[in-house]
Amino acid sequence: MSTVTSSNGFAAGLAEREVRYQICADCGHVQTLARLACRSCGASRLEWRRAAGTGAVFAVTVVSRAPSDEFRALAPYTLVLVDLDEGCRIMGHAEPGVQIGQRVVADFFDHGGRTLLRFRSP
Ligand SMILES: [Zn+2]
Repeated sequence: MSTVTSSNGFAAGLAEREVRYQICADCGHVQTLARLACRSCGASRLEWRRAAGTGAVFAVTVVSRAPSDEFRALAPYTLVLVDLDEGCRIMGHAEPGVQIGQRVVADFFDHGGRTLLRFRSP
């Protein structure tokens, strides 16, 4: 497990096709997305780590009506919540047909000038 020094966080990780998460330097709690403080103990000493990108599907939903113009061209699309092996939960796109409990690995795609997460079968 390597430490990432960039403070740009989650979005910067995606741009480099990496999944990054935060670990609290005080209590060791892990969390996804870019937060200012530990959700467990409130400490602000958070470090970025690079996740392996592997995990298990916790929830699946198929979006048939996109919430914004940006995603309209993609609909219908599959969104998942994945429990990463590092111990935190993250949302991303997924290939159609993924099932709850299934092992997946992070992949990436470019859309609207951004790199987004899309999980697929390992
Ligand atoms: Zn903490």
